[in-house]
Amino acid sequence: MALPRFPMRTLAFLFSLFALGSSLPALAADTWVISAAKIYPAPNAAPIEDGVVLVRAGRITYVGSRGSAKIPKSAKTSTCSGGVLTAGFQNSHVHFIEPRWSDAAHQPAAELAQSLEDMLTRYGFTTVFDTTSDQVNTVALRARVEKGEMRGPRIFTVGLGLFPPDGLPSYINHLPPQLLARLHQPRNAEEARAAVRANIAHGADGTKLFLHTSPRQGEMRRMSAEVARAAVEETHAHGKLVMAHPTSLEALRLALDAGVDVLVHTTLGEESPWDAATVARMKAAHMSVVPTFKLWGYELKKEDVPPSVVDTLVDATLQQLEAFNAVQGQVLFGTDVGYMHDYDPTEEYVLMAKAGMTHAQILESLTTAPAARWNEEKQHGQVAKGFAADLVMLAADPAEDVRNFARVRCVLRAGAPIYSQAAP
Ligand SMILES: [Zn+2]
Repeated sequence: MALPRFPMRTLAFLFSLFALGSSLPALAADTWVISAAKIYPAPNAAPIEDGVVLVRAGRITYVGSRGSAKIPKSAKTSTCSGGVLTAGFQNSHVHFIEPRWSDAAHQPAAELAQSLEDMLTRYGFTTVFDTTSDQVNTVALRARVEKGEMRGPRIFTVGLGLFPPDGLPSYINHLPPQLLARLHQPRNAEEARAAVRANIAHGADGTKLFLHTSPRQGEMRRMSAEVARAAVEETHAHGKLVMAHPTSLEALRLALDAGVDVLVHTTLGEESPWDAATVARMKAAHMSVVPTFKLWGYELKKEDVPPSVVDTLVDATLQQLEAFNAVQGQVLFGTDVGYMHDYDPTEEYVLMAKAGMTHAQILESLTTAPAARWNEEKQHGQVAKGFAADLVMLAADPAEDVRNFARVRCVLRAGAPIYSQAAP
């Protein structure tokens, strides 16, 4: 049998491509130069005007002003240059449940890549956390991205969510029956622990609890404190975090009692605000909050709620975050895209600013806060030497207008381009 006559170096190169995949730089040894009009190294660090970032083998090797940069002669210039540079963003509340994600193991790579771009990478997300989907499908999608079959973000998932018994909420009625049948509805602590273990065995990175749900108009189902606590204990025993969908202030307190780590929504339609005692407990328990403000208007419009009532209800959720932010609670950016078909995060940024968050705090919720929450703060979330070269180049400065967080020119993950805006 004749072997193809490639020189050894070519073989080694082809092997490295196969092993690393095209989501990583093809020539890992090259140094790339990324120039920016302004760099935000971290939310609370002084910005660098006319800055340079050097990237080698997927990591940042230098960040600083152009004047003091020692750029190797052999360095290559990245086409992702010239705007306002920040660390890659994380969206901590997404779902891979729309029909476009179905059969991710076999769909043409180009179609999946387009879906990833439409929902995530074109808005600068280099890391996303899926907070309930068919994990077999989501894990298959993740594996194809990591193999380099297509460009895409890092994907984390909680797998199949846990719901109260007979408690699948009406807003997921449209999902495929075979998926609905597999969603966990544990009746006791033992079933809750088994559900958590099954998820983690299939590649889940955490657990999601739907604490209070409404399967039918006017009916409420509640997860018991015993079930919630067992799910949290089992998840923590595996070194992972628990996210919860509260629905109500009462369920928020249940989440606190159970030891939930991340609340994935504010609570809509409450008669009273988040009181000081509850907010203080959230802070003391290091509970994080994903506000999902845009989602509320989106849902209320579906119900034909008059605009003035929508404004009143959404404003009440802004006040919840204001109270949480006032005690320096940890806010994580997230929009519920994938459940919400409108992917554009611009309105979320505007509402976060309306809730009193500065552009630096919003950047924190996109970068250093999620990195800290998931124990990656030494590798991700900053434009700093030694960190992963996950980078977003914005067209304009978010300090001038927070809408600029959504005006993304190009995105790098581990130094490799995963999104580039088409030339105008
Ligand atoms: Zn969601």
